[in-house]
Order: sequence, then C-alpha cells, then structure tokens
Amino acid sequence: MIITPVPTSSHEEIYYVEDAATGLLGYIAVHSTQLGPAAGGLRMRPYQTPQEALTDVKRLSQGMTYKNAAAGLPLGGGKAVIIGDPGRDKTPELLHAFGRAIDTLQGRYFTAEDMGMTPADMAHLAAVTPFVAGLPSGKFASGDPSPITARGIFNAICTAQKHLCGSADLGGVTVAVQGLGHVGWHLCRRLSSAGANLVVADTDDSRISKARTVFEAAAVAPDQIYSVQADIFAPCAIGGILNADTIPQLKVSIVAGGANNQLASAQDGRALHARSILYAPDFVANGGGIINVATEILKISNRAEFVEEKLMALDLTMQAILTQARAENTCPDAVAVATVQAKMARGIA
Ligand code: NAD
Repeated sequence: MIITPVPTSSHEEIYYVEDAATGLLGYIAVHSTQLGPAAGGLRMRPYQTPQEALTDVKRLSQGMTYKNAAAGLPLGGGKAVIIGDPGRDKTPELLHAFGRAIDTLQGRYFTAEDMGMTPADMAHLAAVTPFVAGLPSGKFASGDPSPITARGIFNAICTAQKHLCGSADLGGVTVAVQGLGHVGWHLCRRLSSAGANLVVADTDDSRISKARTVFEAAAVAPDQIYSVQADIFAPCAIGGILNADTIPQLKVSIVAGGANNQLASAQDGRALHARSILYAPDFVANGGGIINVATEILKISNRAEFVEEKLMALDLTMQAILTQARAENTCPDAVAVATVQAKMARGIA
C-alpha cells in the first residue's frame, strides 16, 4: 500500500491511498483537530476522477469541522472517501487495506459510516484499526447513525416550520424528499407519522415503489424534484444540489434536509435568501448522526442521555441561527458559519 501526502494549505493533513493488491484508491482528509480528534464518515462512490474525489473529501471534511463544532462535540473535522462502486468493488480485503491506512494516522482521524457504507463494513475496518465507530456490536457500539440523523433533521424541519409559520405542526404540509436511502427513509417515516404529505424522488426505482406503498408517497423523476410545488424541500441524497440551475426552480418556502454540502457555493445561500426561501444549514440540521457516533468515539456510557441532551442543544442552536438571520436579514448559513467559527476561536465546542 502506498500512502502519499497531498500538499494542502486549507487542511491539516490529506493523504492519497493506493493499494494495487485490492484495487483500493481513496483519500483521507483531516481538516481540523482544533477541538479534538477529527471525526467524519467514510464514503464510497464511483467518482469519475481522483480530482473529483479529492474535491469531495476536502469539502466534506471541512463540513465535519463545522458540524462537530455546531453539535457541541469535542471533535475536529475529517472525512475519507474510496473511489469505487460499493455494490461491485467493496471487498473485505479492500476495507482492511483502507483500515490500515486510517490506522497510520494514530487516532488523529476516526471514521464511521457515510454513503455506501454499513455497520458491517465498519466491523471490517475495526479488524485492523481501533479508530472506527458506528460498529454493529461491542461495548460502546453505536451502530447505524441514520435514525438519529433523521431525528435531528425532523427537529430542524419543525423548527424552520415554526419559525416561518408560527407552528411546528406538519399535518397537511407537503414535503419533497430527495433520496430514500438510510437518512431519507427514516425521515419519511417521521414526516408521515406527523401527518405530512410526501413527494419523493430516488434514482433507485425499488425505493420509490416501496415509498408509494409504505407512505402513500407521490413520486417524481429525480430531475423533477426541484420544481415540485411543496412547502418544504428535504435534500437527503448528494451534495451541491442547491445551485444556479436548481434554486430558480424551487417552489417551496423551506429547504431543510440531511445531505452534506447542499449549497454548491456560499453564493447559493444568498440566492435562497433573495428568493425568501428559508434554508436550515445542513451541517446543523444533520448533526444527529455524528452525535450518535461520538458516544462511541468518546466512550460515553450514558449514551441515550448524551444523545438527548446534544439533540436538544442542536435544536436550540438552529433556533438561534434562524432568529439571528431574520434579525440581520441575512442568510442562515452565513450565520451558522460565523457561529461555529466563533466557537472555534474560543477553542471550545
Ligand atoms: P444512502 O446511500 O443510504 O442514500 C442515498 C440515497 O440517495 C439512495 O437511495 C440513492 O439511490 C439516492 N440518490 C442518489 N443520487 C440521487 C439523485 N440524484 N436523486 C435522487 N436520489 C438519489 O446515504 P445516506 O446515509 O442516506 O446519506 C444521505 C445524505 O445524508 C448524504 O449526503 C450523507 O452524506 C448525508 N448524511 C448522512 C448521515 C447518516 O447518518 N447516514 C449523517 C449525516 C449526513
């Protein structure tokens, strides 16, 4: 295996990982360890080029620095990506090789699940390194983080709805959900139980059929989800989907979802604000998962209590961000970034 440092001025450390024996190609990025060891998931996607994977890991790891600070966790930001199709290329040997690469950072980076990864995959990594969380079993094992991620997003949706309409009641409210994977599915369950009407899109037709049956959801083609007439848009698939092409199409008053890096750029946050669309910053809305993972990294014994407290605090943070943004007539993501940067300057989460 070859681990090559990638020159960077924006991150503390970035490595390109290559293992000819298993076909492994990937990156590990540590954005910041200012508040503690860097933590953030491992994503496996069929990136078209190594540059695309590098751009993703850099953005995602910076997002984790913000997310962990927003969630009040003594953790820094990091992320890892593997280039490949998880359905075709993922093998125990490839995961072992990547686990050995993570191990060389000696705890400066802890990994967990992200897109394309499962608790069982984390168990493969854990066979060769202790710097992994989201395990299916073990003393502090926290398992699949997505149910708690979805809970935090549901809270964010309710908070945004209350901020805009004076009531958090979602009865009869229409929510357009992009992506019915781990997070999107659990979110749909909560929204449906709260009486919301669902319009869904996914590139996987089998998930659409299931959502039609289970939630009586209406479905649209993946590229139609942006123009659905709805109250709320919940992006729960890929990043960069709020951009110059999609924002003009939106017919909602709130965007609140679980995907990381939803805004293609900071300008897109301003574009949402200019259209009077309330945006719940993603790295605050989707912090539930890392809160759950943190119980394992930090070896928290009263896990349920820790998660409840942190989720409640996260919701208060979201409320404060939306209130400040309204008072300053500015976009919530700018306030959210300033909030976490102030925390980091103080050196405490
Ligand atoms: P997942 O892989 O389980 O699900 C993603 C879903 O999106 C799949 O059903 C996929 O078919 C669908 N999809 C992909 N491209 C699409 C497109 N263009 N249009 C519509 N659907 C599309 O992933 P996940 O764990 O549910 O994560 C979803 C998002 O939430 C990711 O951005 C992830 O980084 C973020 N996130 C996840 C967690 C977590 O706990 N899993 C925590 C925080 C953030």
